[in-house]
Amino acid sequence: MSKRDVMAYYHIWTIGCQMNQADSEQLAAYLEKLGYQYAHEIEKANLIVLNSCVVRQSAENRVLGKLDSLKELKRLSPDTVVALAGCMVDSEVAQLKHRFPHVDLFLKPGQFNELLELAKARTPKAPDSFTISTLSPTAFVTIIEGCNNFCSYCIVPYRRGREKSHPIAELRCQVESLVQRGVKEITLLGQNVDSYGHDLPDKPGLADLFQELNSIERLSRIRFLTSHPKDMSRKLIQAVASLEKVCEHISLPVQAGDDEILQAMGRGYTVQSYRELVEQIRCAIPTVALATDIIVGFPGETEEQFQRTIELLSDLRFDTVHVAAYSPRTGTSAAKKLKEDVPSLEKKRRLQKVEELQSIVASGINARLSGHTLEVLVEGKKKGKWYGRTRTDKLVFFEDEANWLGQLVNIEVKKTSPWALQGSLKSG
Ligand code: SF4
Repeated sequence: MSKRDVMAYYHIWTIGCQMNQADSEQLAAYLEKLGYQYAHEIEKANLIVLNSCVVRQSAENRVLGKLDSLKELKRLSPDTVVALAGCMVDSEVAQLKHRFPHVDLFLKPGQFNELLELAKARTPKAPDSFTISTLSPTAFVTIIEGCNNFCSYCIVPYRRGREKSHPIAELRCQVESLVQRGVKEITLLGQNVDSYGHDLPDKPGLADLFQELNSIERLSRIRFLTSHPKDMSRKLIQAVASLEKVCEHISLPVQAGDDEILQAMGRGYTVQSYRELVEQIRCAIPTVALATDIIVGFPGETEEQFQRTIELLSDLRFDTVHVAAYSPRTGTSAAKKLKEDVPSLEKKRRLQKVEELQSIVASGINARLSGHTLEVLVEGKKKGKWYGRTRTDKLVFFEDEANWLGQLVNIEVKKTSPWALQGSLKSG
């Protein structure tokens, strides 16, 4: 009898945003509670979940490739349960079943009940205590699901539904239990975290949630993702500035540097108001690190309009820029109403321009950190080096023989690049 016959193994493949990663982490925790073990090799698993993303065509293509690769596995091992979860699963499940007959379950984003019921029925024995195979000092906590914004290019509101916040008391409990398991840093997640709480009885805001979580002993850091420029309040900025556990790192997607394009995207702010917001944040939190997202090649984007994006990025000098080429998503208003008129080669050129510029900007920002000592939360080891992140989300590597996993350490920065810092442990 092989090991696979007596044990229950799962494998989760995840692509896309941090919300998907959080969903996968939570599903893994539930499965482990049922006695399942993580299988590094997909072939070894009795239960395979693909947590999909269709926000961009490139992500969708990767999911399709992965689905295709599972056909043979399912043919050879028909008892293996294959589930497709995440944003590829819309209301047309019958069509999906027809397209992917080798898939057993189709689960909408974050909705794993059907899978868990089936997993429970198949588990040989559920352990009494909660076990986690890999203990990480960091964890994601989803505070608000869905999105009400309907940016013209975005599929998320159609797949994840309308905004629904989790009550503060429930989130406090969740974070306390993570802290008991050794988690030191949490990242509060939402498609738009700044609108947290508007649908709850007392209408608390994200600043109130920060205040509550900041008082949890042994929790060291609180991060949050993603903010929306039209919803970031003065109160929230003040909370980030004043609460010691809330990290001075803000992800504030601007998407484009031209007002006409922003309007066509349905973003609800202007370039000027965005610039003012950044000024306000930097004034209140001088050490803040800012990240942004850019879409190049949106329908109708002229060279002149693209240059305005370049100008904005050069002026504001973000720590990190995530750039993507526009791809129409079926069902969104941009896909229905706007003509995709920027050729793909041109999109690629614009994307590279943004990347080249950002590499120069980030290299300058990071070079200034050389010689400074930064607090790093150690998350793991890669190729013999410990790695972790600063409060401002900079990736840092250092070498040392001792075990530093999950520790907050002081690292003196010796070498920098646009993407990471290298340093050495500072004693005392
Ligand atoms: S804010 Fe806009 S881009 Fe972000 S998830 Fe909502 S609709 Fe999509």
